[in-house]
Amino acid sequence: MNRKQSEQLYEQALQHIVGGVNSPSRSFKAVGGGAPVFMAKASGSHFWDVDGNKYVDYLAAYGPIITGHAHPHITEAITRAAANGILYGTPTELEIKLAMMLKEAIPSMDKVRFVNSGTEAVMTTIRVARAFTKRNKIIKFAGCYHGHSDLVLVAAGSGPSTLGIPDSAGIPVSIASEVITVPFNDIPALQAALDKWGDDVAAVMVEPIVGNFGMVMPKPGFLEDLCRLTRKYGALVIYDEVITAFRFHYGSTQTYAGLENHEAIQPDLTALGKIIGGGLPIGAYGGTREVMEQVAPLGPAYQAGTMAGNPASISSGIACLEVLQTAGVYEEMERLALRLTEGLAESAARHQVPLTINRIRGSFSTHFCDHPVTNYEEAQDTDGEKFAAFFRSMLDQGINLAPSKYEAWFLTTAHTDEDVDLTLEAADRAFKSLL
Ligand code: PMP
Repeated sequence: MNRKQSEQLYEQALQHIVGGVNSPSRSFKAVGGGAPVFMAKASGSHFWDVDGNKYVDYLAAYGPIITGHAHPHITEAITRAAANGILYGTPTELEIKLAMMLKEAIPSMDKVRFVNSGTEAVMTTIRVARAFTKRNKIIKFAGCYHGHSDLVLVAAGSGPSTLGIPDSAGIPVSIASEVITVPFNDIPALQAALDKWGDDVAAVMVEPIVGNFGMVMPKPGFLEDLCRLTRKYGALVIYDEVITAFRFHYGSTQTYAGLENHEAIQPDLTALGKIIGGGLPIGAYGGTREVMEQVAPLGPAYQAGTMAGNPASISSGIACLEVLQTAGVYEEMERLALRLTEGLAESAARHQVPLTINRIRGSFSTHFCDHPVTNYEEAQDTDGEKFAAFFRSMLDQGINLAPSKYEAWFLTTAHTDEDVDLTLEAADRAFKSLL
């Protein structure tokens, strides 16, 4: 496949944009380097690059594009919003509508606040939890990504119960030392951390279903035990549902049928993003009334935003959720994902490529290994070189995946059986080439 224009644009981008990309995950560094593909147009489940090549897309922009690219209902909502003025700096009725839709779908949130990204949403939930508990420390789980604010960029992959070491330059050790990292799905490790530091823990932050080292389900009872233990020590539970909300059903992990005992797994605060903006920049956080009343102008925890709740993002989010209310959309994404994962597993086995697939409804991750992936350590212990070769072969056959062995494949409401057929044919050749 000829990608000359992409290569030329990459050379140009490198001169003006740091690393040539506006988010490091878009670079091809983890898959052998070189020019990422510069896309020119997207529609439904497809991309066209600047050289005119066509791709089936499973990146879905890292999650938000669950209804496919340029969905007419969302495009119409954004166009209407743009014609009415894109930014007011005053409240609008639209914000109430989206807040009500979120509250109805995620009942643990009595009150909501809109921000502009998942990073901001998570960052603010931590501030609010600290204000509410008057404590400082945060416990997070290894490999869970919570955006790029200082606290949560700490020890995104360190060993059990160690005090944080920054994963990024520019984060003071004084901040890193406020974060404790434990392995996902490991209650004894959480218990040990709480035993040691519990009196100063403001919150335990978790992706309740992980989307950042593949798709990983909590083991039965994990979230229940996490909530019970955290509260026993007087700390708050924060769910980062930036990926998971509206991903598996019309709602969040908190009411997902694949998990039991919903009453026992309700968090105090929830961070949202991605899907709730239908592809435009957005974030939101919400929680119980008591906790949310810490936030200015009601309370002492300050958080603000010039762009927050802008009519374009809010309209796009409402339109996206409206599409997701259509009967059968999640079932159809699941049906296609099931066909795809069964086909991938069969093809990998035929070519003797060890492959573990974690599928949750219409999303899944492929791990080049022969063991289960239930935590970050197991996700790291997979064959990155095989993934890179598979990724490149798929790309050259017109299948666009995320350039990282940790990222998920996302089905959208726009994918079809024909897309799945094409993908399976390409994957068969890709697995064969790995021999
Ligand atoms: N939390 C989770 C679980 C995420 O996956 C991400 C982004 N991938 C974020 C937070 C940060 O969101 P944003 O990139 O919108 O700042």
